Amino acid sequence: MCRCALPSDPPVETIHTIAWMKQVAREARAKERILGFVPTMGALHEGHLSLIREAQKGCSPVVASIFVNPTQFGPTEDFQKYPRTLEADRAVLEGLGVEYLFHPSREEMYPNSFRTSVSVEALGERLEGRSRPGHFRGVTTVVLKFFEIIQPRFAFFGRKDAQQARIIRQMAGDLNSDAQIVVCPIVREQDGLALSSRNAYLSEAERRAATALYEGLDALRKDVDSGTLDAARLLTELRRVMDARAGVAIEYTEIVDAETFEPVVSLRRTCYALVAALVGKTRLIDNALIEQDGESFRVTL
Ligand code: AMP
Repeated sequence: MCRCALPSDPPVETIHTIAWMKQVAREARAKERILGFVPTMGALHEGHLSLIREAQKGCSPVVASIFVNPTQFGPTEDFQKYPRTLEADRAVLEGLGVEYLFHPSREEMYPNSFRTSVSVEALGERLEGRSRPGHFRGVTTVVLKFFEIIQPRFAFFGRKDAQQARIIRQMAGDLNSDAQIVVCPIVREQDGLALSSRNAYLSEAERRAATALYEGLDALRKDVDSGTLDAARLLTELRRVMDARAGVAIEYTEIVDAETFEPVVSLRRTCYALVAALVGKTRLIDNALIEQDGESFRVTL
């Protein structure tokens, strides 16, 4: 569990301007410190904190960013109502001993003169990219801006957003970024629901129904454990479990190759089983990592 800040904790330095963030990062690099970066949109939960703890194992200083990035939200999405809990987040970061919080304003990141975007071809066109047109362009553009500003040695992302992590790794490689992309496991509630800032939108009944995503993936895990390799069969059972829950509307369920994000017919090498569903009005995503282990496959939720 995270703890609140104690009076003895050193304060996290909150940085609002790009110029100051660049200066701090430049000084850290000049001292040959290993800068770790954890981008977030705030409303911090244990999923975010797991990335920060992972960063702290090998990096110092650690820079966490909190920026609700408008360009990754579609016109009908929840940008306005996205939870913003800056003071609580700052206390959590202080409790963890994070040195720097980068919290720029929208105008600082996107002045009126802003014209550029970057997008990764193919990988971003299916699944989340299809459901949320423009989403990945917004993500890659803001992450590239952060990489330019901070120039981290390591940047930490959650496997919860597996397609996003894959796209960012592609972008970092293609554009010769020095940032090494580290992808961290999914942190879940006790009943399996993947932590997400959007879980705060769920009513009590929706919160109970929301475990359907995990339960579907868990059913898939059991089928893989008992030797099923056929993607269509695995997805049929996954969907059956999810469909059994009232109030859950499946948007997509797919099993894809972990490199290409193209659907597979049968399990091979490393795959993801990916799900997206509406629970009430709240859109949730989750996934399972499926790795080949000799003749069999191991599923990690
Ligand atoms: P967000 O604030 O939702 O943009 O997420 C910031 C980072 O936290 C992203 O790299 C997410 O993949 C990661 N993240 C979100 N939820 C979880 C979770 N439950 N477990 C691990 N990482 C997560």
